[in-house]
Amino acid sequence: QAQIEFKNVSFSYQKKKNAAKIQVINDLSFTINPGERVAIVGPSGVGKSTLARLLYRLYDVDQGAILLNGINIANMKQESLRRHIGIVSQDPALFNNTIAYNIGYGCADHNATLEQVIDVSKRASIHNFIIAQPLGYGTPVGERGVRLSGGEKQRVSIARAVLKDPKIMIFDEATSSLDSITESEILFAMNDISRGRTCLTIAHRLSTVMDADKILVLKKGTLVEMGTHDDLLKVE
Ligand code: ADP
Ligand code: ADP
Repeated sequence: QAQIEFKNVSFSYQKKKNAAKIQVINDLSFTINPGERVAIVGPSGVGKSTLARLLYRLYDVDQGAILLNGINIANMKQESLRRHIGIVSQDPALFNNTIAYNIGYGCADHNATLEQVIDVSKRASIHNFIIAQPLGYGTPVGERGVRLSGGEKQRVSIARAVLKDPKIMIFDEATSSLDSITESEILFAMNDISRGRTCLTIAHRLSTVMDADKILVLKKGTLVEMGTHDDLLKVE
């Protein structure tokens, strides 16, 4: 049985009531098996982020269904769906609070112990980065604290996702706003925490998803190609 199945999914954004609907996902179907590393590629605006948001149920589909282990996610409690899925997006919003809080210590979303926060930080290879900060895990970030760089924010965001020990990880353009050295560091951390999990990586460049088991090429909300990296290069 597939772990994730998109079954003829369609979705439109509607800016205002009575305004025209803009169809972004159009009769999209595909499956992902447990442990598979799948990449979704395609130029900007084709619906890649929307697809991730539908899986995380930030929005509900208009038509079709998304199944998780055979269960329609529309019939699942939001917390139980999101417990299974960790998401790291391009520009993670952090709270104006401490690093520990942002990862999950005392935070309403997660409420982990400090030991758990330190443990995931070690697993996400960010513990050394945190203890090098002025106050370690107590370092405040945001307006009243230190300003984290894009890569540093991604490290916190990755640890935050790993804390749930999710079976599925979604990386939505997680490295696309980083310089190439930081990008390779973050790709390394992503690779590390992806082990043993199903992984859905969204990218606009094929080169960042070299090691995917399966690549889905999206165009105007539909699937136009599917294969391995080598298959796709042959097509081009
Ligand atoms: P991609 O991730 O491939 O760049 P997106 O899924 O972000 O594409 O966007 C697909 C289309 O939906 C784009 O035309 C975009 O402008 C539009 N869109 C994205 N988010 C919203 C939103 N919240 N409301 C209205 N339109 C949106
Ligand atoms: P991402 O998180 O992938 O960067 P966004 O949702 O922030 O994507 O934006 C993707 C595109 O959708 C952008 O072009 C943005 O201008 C457009 N967009 C985002 N939110 C809305 C919205 N509420 N209404 C209309 N367009 C939107």
